[in-house]
Amino acid sequence: MSADSSSFEKGLNLIANILNERNINELKPYFANLDQPNQENAVPRGRVANIFLILVSEGELVIRHEGGEDISIARLMDNGYPIILHEKLVSAWRRETLEMLRHHYDTYKDNVNKIRGKNDEWHCYLRPFQGGGKRTEQKSDVEKQEKSKGKNEEYIGGLCGECPNCMIFGYAVKDENYNVKSRIEGDLYFSTLPENKSVVVRTFNAVDETTHTTYIPTGGERTGVLFRLSLIKEGTIFVGKVAIKDLSPAEFLLSLYSLVNTTRIGGVKSDFGKIKVIIPNIILCEHEVSSGYDIFTKVKDKNDTTEVVRAINSYLSENFKNCKVYTNTDFTPNINNVIKSNENEIIINAWKDSTNFKKSIEKFVNAKQSP
Ligand SMILES: [Zn+2]
Repeated sequence: MSADSSSFEKGLNLIANILNERNINELKPYFANLDQPNQENAVPRGRVANIFLILVSEGELVIRHEGGEDISIARLMDNGYPIILHEKLVSAWRRETLEMLRHHYDTYKDNVNKIRGKNDEWHCYLRPFQGGGKRTEQKSDVEKQEKSKGKNEEYIGGLCGECPNCMIFGYAVKDENYNVKSRIEGDLYFSTLPENKSVVVRTFNAVDETTHTTYIPTGGERTGVLFRLSLIKEGTIFVGKVAIKDLSPAEFLLSLYSLVNTTRIGGVKSDFGKIKVIIPNIILCEHEVSSGYDIFTKVKDKNDTTEVVRAINSYLSENFKNCKVYTNTDFTPNINNVIKSNENEIIINAWKDSTNFKKSIEKFVNAKQSP
């Protein structure tokens, strides 16, 4: 990398290394250039990286969704297939991104504060809860306001509204007159095996470790002092897709890095389960292509990751020839190698780009409001 090239081009070069693409001009149309604030970047411009994912459970996995059963099941064809909701992956992914940003901030605080244009301590954290929920902690004014609007879905407090995490995954209004929507979207991750082959029911002793009682606050069927829980079997394969839209190269690299290093899914400590992320295919296109369900139908009932990777790659390379299709057995080692050796520069550039993205939105909003 030459010292005088822009951070946009530096980032593209790293992405080219990961994808094994020789010509960075092939990548340019699919990423936002956020080297400077530009209101044109405030709205979606058809720059989509479709990331195909395989999630493998590395132990027995509890994937409870708010208000639901132990495991969510999609009824497809004649069978029920366990699914992971995108929100479940995103909360783990965001936590991983925040950990990386905090770790970096501890070493490079002055550099980051200069980009922020502030000298106070940067804080950003996730605090998900149900709108009508059981939380007893003090609620902030913003949260109270949200609640009084009758919002019942899960929302998040504690986000700073300025860091790459907030600008990439979105955040709700505080004092600003706009919301930032997530530039990462996904749907469902489907187990390749039906529930009779991928779910196991276990019975636990229901003594709560904090209160030493048999009360179970987060669910689970109580049978006297015992309760049963459905768990995803070790080695179960889930497939799905995320669409990453209009990110700068540095924001994209940071997101990929935190995605492949997301090793646990689940918001509650007792629900944590270890997973492995495999990325066999990345399609750059001017729109979204395929979906979790689409690739699920191609790998249904397959129980071997190599076979699943092969089936996904051959289907996608055959059917999306008008887009840029990149295949690999797994991009994860490439992503780790390339990013690890450029980590500080990528995170610094992600901070710059996210700051410029925020300024771009402000320019756009102000331009719309002025007569
Ligand atoms: Zn933030």
